[in-house]
Amino acid sequence: MDFSEQQIERYARHILLGQVGGKGQEKLLASKVLVIGAGGLGSPVLLYLAAAGVGTLGIIDDDVVDLSNLQRQVIHATASIGMAKVDSAKNTIAAINPDVRVITYQDRITAGNAMDLIGGYDLVADGSDNFATRFLVNDACYLSKTPLVSAAILQFDGQVATYKAHEAGDNPCYRCLFPEPPPPGQVPSCAEAGVLGAMCGMIGSLQATEALKELMGIGQSLSGSLLICEALGTEFRKIKVRRDPGCALCGETPTITDLSLHEIAAGEQCRPAASGSA
Ligand code: ZN
Repeated sequence: MDFSEQQIERYARHILLGQVGGKGQEKLLASKVLVIGAGGLGSPVLLYLAAAGVGTLGIIDDDVVDLSNLQRQVIHATASIGMAKVDSAKNTIAAINPDVRVITYQDRITAGNAMDLIGGYDLVADGSDNFATRFLVNDACYLSKTPLVSAAILQFDGQVATYKAHEAGDNPCYRCLFPEPPPPGQVPSCAEAGVLGAMCGMIGSLQATEALKELMGIGQSLSGSLLICEALGTEFRKIKVRRDPGCALCGETPTITDLSLHEIAAGEQCRPAASGSA
C-alpha cells in the first residue's frame, strides 16, 4: 500500500517508531475493530483507534446520548444529546480522521447476532457495562477465534485484559478467571455506584493501546495477565492469570460450544441498565 502525502504527515509519529514504522501503520489501516458500547470506555477507545488510523471501526450501541453521559463519554458533545450514540460517535470520528470507515449498529449484541457481527472483525474491544454482555462477547470471540481486549470500570477502579484463548499456549479466556456471572444485583453498575470520569479515559486508553499492539503484533501481549488499577491509591497491579483446564468454554472438555446458553440468559435477565455502556 502506498501512503498519500497527507497520510505520511498524519501518521509521522507512528512511522517514526521502530516497532511500528510504515509496516505497522499499513496493518492498522487494513484492520477492522468492533467496539462494543460507545460509552465511557468506548469513547476513548474509539477516539484513539480512529486517530491511530484503524481502517474500519464497527460500533454497536443501542442507546442515545444523555446529559448524564457527558461527564465521561468524551466522544459525545452537548449538541448531540438525544442523538443515537453510534451516530454521534461516527460524526466525531469523521471529524478526526477521514481515513476511517465507520460501520454503525444501533442495536444490542445478542446471542442471535454476535457470531455474524464479530466474524467480520479482526479484534473486539469490549466496553460494555454489564456481565451478561461481557460473557456473551467472551464466548463469541472464543468461538470465532477473534482476539478480545476487555475492560471494566467502577467508581475509582478499573481493569484491562486481553483474551485470545483460541491461540495455543497459556492464554486464558474471561471464563477461566470468572466462571459464572455474579448473581444480579451483587455488583453495582456505574449508574448505581458512580464512576470518576477520568478513570474511563485512563482505562480506555490502556484498552486502545493493547488493541493497537495486538493488531500490529508488537510488544508483549497482555494475554495471560489482568491489569488492575486503583486510582485513589494510584496503584497499578499486573496479575498473572492462567488458562483453566476445567473451563466450560476453552477447557479440555468444553460444555459451551455455541451461544445457546445466552438465549436463555437473555430471557431471564431484565435489568433495564443492561443495554447501556460504561
Ligand atoms: Zn476459558
